[in-house]
Amino acid sequence: MPVSGLGPYDDANIFARILRGELPCRKVYEDDYALAFDDIAPQAPVHVLVIPKTPHVSFADFAATAPAETIAGFFAAVAKVAKQLGLEEPGYRILANMGHHAHQEVPHFHVHIFGGRKLGAMLA
Ligand code: 5GP
Repeated sequence: MPVSGLGPYDDANIFARILRGELPCRKVYEDDYALAFDDIAPQAPVHVLVIPKTPHVSFADFAATAPAETIAGFFAAVAKVAKQLGLEEPGYRILANMGHHAHQEVPHFHVHIFGGRKLGAMLA
């Protein structure tokens, strides 16, 4: 059973298709654990999505079922992307929407990185 209530992993989701190279993306980083690319509808001057290469529908699913090495590798990649983008000194925000109340749209776990300006209130 999936952990998050989003249903079983759907191989046809948009990020799975980007991972397979079936759809284009503006890649900013890739390693064994993660792929990072610009969000198609940026909400800050820098808005990058970081996705694991493994099929997990949500943060809850990823945290509960991915091997520890995969989780560590993924979050290390998130930090590397932010650093590579020059965001460490000015600062940045990471965010993961999990499930319906958080408006998770794409059922492949992903972390948003926002930066490039002083960000506003934490929640809208
Ligand atoms: P969520 O609400 O699931 O946390 O965020 C999904 C994000 O994926 C949104 O910010 C949306 O703009 C982005 N997105 C949706 N479809 C595509 C796509 O085809 N390419 C890219 N690069 N981003 C997408």
